[in-house]
Amino acid sequence: MTSNSQMQQRKEKVIAKGQGNLTSIYVKRAKNAELWDIENNRYIDFGSGIAVSNTGHSHPQIVEAVKQQLDNFSHTCVMVTPYENAVALAERLTEIAPGQTPKKAIFVTTGAEAVENCVKIARAHTRRRGIIAFNGGFHGRTNMTMGLTGKITPYKNLFGPFPNEIYHIPFPIAYHGISEQQSLGALQTLFKVDIDPSDVAAIIIEPVQGEGGFYAASTSFLKALRAICDQHGIVMIADEIQTGFARTGKMFCMDHHDIEPDLITMAKGIAGGFPLAAVVGKQEIMDSSLPGGLGGTYGGSPVGCAAALAVLDVIEQEKLVQRAVLIGQQFAARLEILRREFSQTVGEIRVCGAMIAIELIVDGDANQPNAEMTRKLVQQASQQGLILLSCGSRSNVIRFLPPLTISDELIDEGMAILTECFNIL
Ligand code: PLP
Repeated sequence: MTSNSQMQQRKEKVIAKGQGNLTSIYVKRAKNAELWDIENNRYIDFGSGIAVSNTGHSHPQIVEAVKQQLDNFSHTCVMVTPYENAVALAERLTEIAPGQTPKKAIFVTTGAEAVENCVKIARAHTRRRGIIAFNGGFHGRTNMTMGLTGKITPYKNLFGPFPNEIYHIPFPIAYHGISEQQSLGALQTLFKVDIDPSDVAAIIIEPVQGEGGFYAASTSFLKALRAICDQHGIVMIADEIQTGFARTGKMFCMDHHDIEPDLITMAKGIAGGFPLAAVVGKQEIMDSSLPGGLGGTYGGSPVGCAAALAVLDVIEQEKLVQRAVLIGQQFAARLEILRREFSQTVGEIRVCGAMIAIELIVDGDANQPNAEMTRKLVQQASQQGLILLSCGSRSNVIRFLPPLTISDELIDEGMAILTECFNIL
């Protein structure tokens, strides 16, 4: 039997360091919220890949849809000889996207591509150049999306120069002492000093910063941004790549705020693990570019579209939007107990549906991030049979993104492992 450590040695010889791995768990099989590695060790998955498997691993209905599609055909390019599933998926996505304005969609393959295409569409629509993004935000690893990303390490180190005409302002985070007024003030200063608002094509925001540490923007802040965009004809882009598809207890996070962005990015949970991403937005804006200017060879692949249609059915049939809220409540209750027990180490608990995070701190001081403990906890948990992910601009946040199909029992089992890890460390 090949071991995880043998595989890791093989991996290190042939896969470049830049594509590093958080654990050395080599997966053989995964089902719903559990994984098994090549040594037959079992793990509970609190990460869903990275926020992808909202509908669980290998959901039978999604597997069946994919098999059927493969029996029919595995590929034709939607830009050459299209197929019904792409149209059917666009119909459903435009229907469920936040807001009432008639919408259109395009399909691409990765989240970063979806963000890139939003920038292209916004620039084509406005004929302007500037894009405003937020400190601590994450939008991908391509050149443009790295430029938009506000978190430097490890995403941007050594990789510049980045595209011009990108501006960053602070994301309001009460926990870090950054108020909404400060953030909006920084935007007004930017308009005065760096770029006239009439030159700004778009503002892009994650309604809950994902990689940045699970910080949620408030309704009042998002409304203020919406008003500024309306005032100056700026395209508002909601990057919902991590927050979409029931994750936060609504189909999309913007639904919590009842705000309609002009463009919304979708990826990760959209197709249950098949590479697919989309931009959905107001018809008039989406139609700004010339035929052939958007998309790509694999954008909206038949297999991805078939999987995504099944994902939407599963979310509806299994009431995963509602389930995400209950999962969040169960985690919150368990994490409160953990915080009482380890009050010097566990700082703020943040819960937005099933997008849950804890800050790890030193000596009960929120200003002392405990990145070392965070790193160790992820490692320890993986040895005890629990997959955890970290995040955060200070590398001290543990984030919990379980499949929304996870059972109460498995959550309790995972939380017991987490507590044990705290006791060990
Ligand atoms: N935007 C957000 C908010 C994300 O969380 C991610 C991935 O983590 C991306 C964009 C990039 O997506 P991808 O890795 O599919 O390119």
